Amino acid sequence: MDLGIKGKRALVCASSKGLGFGCAEALAQAGVDLVICARTVGPLAEAQARLEAYGVSVTSVAADVTLDTGRAAVLEAAGNVDILVTNAGGPPPGNWADWERADFMAAIDANMLTPIMLMKALLPYMIEQKWGRVVNITSQYVKGPSGILGLSNTARAGLTGYVAGTSRDVAKHGVTINNLLPGIHATDRSAALDGGAAKAAGISIEQAVANRCANVPAGRYGTSAEFGATCAFMCSQHAGFMVGQNVLLDGGFIGCTM
Ligand code: NAP
Repeated sequence: MDLGIKGKRALVCASSKGLGFGCAEALAQAGVDLVICARTVGPLAEAQARLEAYGVSVTSVAADVTLDTGRAAVLEAAGNVDILVTNAGGPPPGNWADWERADFMAAIDANMLTPIMLMKALLPYMIEQKWGRVVNITSQYVKGPSGILGLSNTARAGLTGYVAGTSRDVAKHGVTINNLLPGIHATDRSAALDGGAAKAAGISIEQAVANRCANVPAGRYGTSAEFGATCAFMCSQHAGFMVGQNVLLDGGFIGCTM
């Protein structure tokens, strides 16, 4: 399918690996020029080379997008973009009894205020040109419960509330804002969580993965390529009537009818 976005420019945050890279790669395949970022230079340079192989222009910025200084560097490199995909590493798992105010503030900064500040900076140009797409990478746990990911749930629920209202404000300008909710996908992040779960339960990582797959109706982890393809569709010309939605990609894990 021609997504109709060849020649547009996108900022895809936290995109040297994992789901962010999957989104950047799918947009590159659609002919979108890219600005990408991550904190670690080596994998970022590798990602840039892989994306440039699709024949698009790629600018990479080594920066922590959750810090004011890092975000300023990313925004300066990006300039005006047609498409924004927000993403950052997720907060660590833990237990409600251990979390202090500082833990919540760090999660809210990274996973709620960072995407909100990026939207605040980049929406005016999209509104002015009467076309724009924003996709925020959040989590399946916005729709269903998880005790150990309470820091993530708290921050992402706030972002979800912000998007629900703001998306309706900007829709009349041809700008859409939606959230993409990953269930379990095979990335470094899921490998780290599986390692922690295996250690806590005294089982092998292979067994921890098998246990997790057994709870997913699709019986497997998702891939970054599948995730990226969905993101690219949400950024496409075809998704102009999708406003303020929370699109769940979880292999059926979250048990809800709607
Ligand atoms: P990942 O495999 O760990 O990849 C994270 C990517 O983001 C890397 O390129 C990393 O590079 C970059 N990054 C992380 N923090 C950054 C920061 N502060 N500034 C700039 N770049 C940053 O993670 P993932 O699995 O793709 O997950 C992406 C998001 O989806 C996370 O918020 C995660 O919590 C959420 N999620 C993932 C899953 C899953 O199963 N994978 C499920 C639900 C939700 P550097 O480390 O070099 O910065």
